[in-house]
Amino acid sequence: MQGKMMNQPLIVSSILEHAERYHGDTEIVSQTVEGPIHRYTYAEAHKRSKQAANALLKLGADTGSRIATLAWNNFRHFELYYAISGIGAITHTVNPRLFPEQVSWIVNDAEDQILCFDTSFSTLIESIAPQCPSVKYWIAMTNRDHMPDIRVPNLVCYEDLIASESEEFTWPRLDENSASSLCYTSGTTGNPKGVLYSHRSTLLHALSSALPDAMNLSGRDVVLPVVPMFHVNAWGLPYTAPLVGAKLVFPGDGMDGESLYQLFESEGVTFSAGVPTVWLGVLQHLRNSGSKLSTVERMIVGGAACPPALMQSFRDEYGITIQHAWGMTELSPLGTVNTPKSKHLGLDDEERFKLDIKQGRPPFGIDLKIVDDNGNELPRDGQTSGDLLVRGYWVIDQYYNKDDSPLVDGWFPTGDVANQDKDGYLQITDRSKDVIKSGGEWISSIELENIAMSHAAVSEAAALGLSHDKWDERPLLVVVRKAGQDVSREEILAHYQGKVAKFCIPEDVIFVDEIPHTATGKVSKVTLRKQLSDYRWPAPK
Ligand code: ADP
Repeated sequence: MQGKMMNQPLIVSSILEHAERYHGDTEIVSQTVEGPIHRYTYAEAHKRSKQAANALLKLGADTGSRIATLAWNNFRHFELYYAISGIGAITHTVNPRLFPEQVSWIVNDAEDQILCFDTSFSTLIESIAPQCPSVKYWIAMTNRDHMPDIRVPNLVCYEDLIASESEEFTWPRLDENSASSLCYTSGTTGNPKGVLYSHRSTLLHALSSALPDAMNLSGRDVVLPVVPMFHVNAWGLPYTAPLVGAKLVFPGDGMDGESLYQLFESEGVTFSAGVPTVWLGVLQHLRNSGSKLSTVERMIVGGAACPPALMQSFRDEYGITIQHAWGMTELSPLGTVNTPKSKHLGLDDEERFKLDIKQGRPPFGIDLKIVDDNGNELPRDGQTSGDLLVRGYWVIDQYYNKDDSPLVDGWFPTGDVANQDKDGYLQITDRSKDVIKSGGEWISSIELENIAMSHAAVSEAAALGLSHDKWDERPLLVVVRKAGQDVSREEILAHYQGKVAKFCIPEDVIFVDEIPHTATGKVSKVTLRKQLSDYRWPAPK
């Protein structure tokens, strides 16, 4: 027997419709690439999104067309998210920090029909346009006065394009399983792979992300996504914020500590999210300028392991809770967020901190398991590490343009190594390819990095397993010193005493001015390995 309830499809356009009807006067504030701050409301964003929808249809966009964006977090990008997915086309966010050859490879793989870009990427666009034959229109996301002077066929001005369009548009009642957006993994091994989200997966992800034990967002929040809209849809925040009616603040390309601080204060931001390097920048700015954040209540840190020292500094010096989260492109991206249960509220500071530095537990909609090499589930004892598998409502089933399934018995292998405790709290110890295998034992590179970064003179650290004649691999620690600080190899090694087993202590420490990062702001171990290809272990004494 079928239930007799309305069968309303879970579609992305319903979020903005809701935001206009129930939070119509709530603001969206953007730092624009043209310079000034732009502000308007959900009601206006919805109207312009409908104008953009009418315009895209006239340019020939159709159900399933891939329409790319190469843009920062700003209001036009937000409008396009909804206009493109709303008409049944696919919002393909491309990471502009990739090399031009990677950008054109991705555009060609997706066969994008239209590409919308911020004018800060005009030079990149001019260089890739001849390599991207599928793109019929290049839309500069600006007004007539700021149009770039570049030679690209069918260059269109976004503001001119939508100006004459009607604000009336009825969003089609799409199949909720149809594709809404596309995002490529960074492709640290091989070519990037496309993850094609559906309307249903996006909506369920947004609903669950808002829950109190996930991002805990409401109509009283002011949300500033530092994580770019080209990095897994800014972790879903352009959907979750309007869904709950939170004010949105878009930082544009201003992701340095000082610019973020200014926006946090001027707009009364309560919640923000980004990768650890962003928060290191904010912390540095606060310390150097002696400023305090007066409205920020909590921040989500994910995308890479959050150094415990960073978490501690924000808590002790500024009274701000950093919540650790884990996810990946294939998970839309939310896998876990760290929030305590009521039984944890009475823990002493030390025990509570041990819990807080873990990556957290899954919201409803995600299931995790940790298995050994033979696929047997390992005990949830907070100790035993193995391969992390995931399944759930917003987890990938198949990569875009690929026939074979990445799943193993219905579970997605994440490539991460982790343990889980009896309450479900996950602790990531490594990417499987970054685990350091020394004398038959596994050493966690994340643990070594966290210890190094708890040293007062260390700004950033990366641990790599390099081959070793006797032990198979040994850990090498690469360190960036804090400006004006001096610390020796011996002092760093001494800092490990008593914190890890003796065999885990790095074999050697080297100092560099800078550690390379990927296009999504994580330490690039692939590049670091290449840079260190001539490195040799010190001769035994
Ligand atoms: P990639 O960097 O591979 O393109 P993602 O941005 O999707 O893709 O990153 C996913 C990976 O980032 C995870 O599989 C995991 O290794 C790492 N990661 C994400 N969040 C965390 C975290 N909080 N702690 C440790 N690692 C994390």
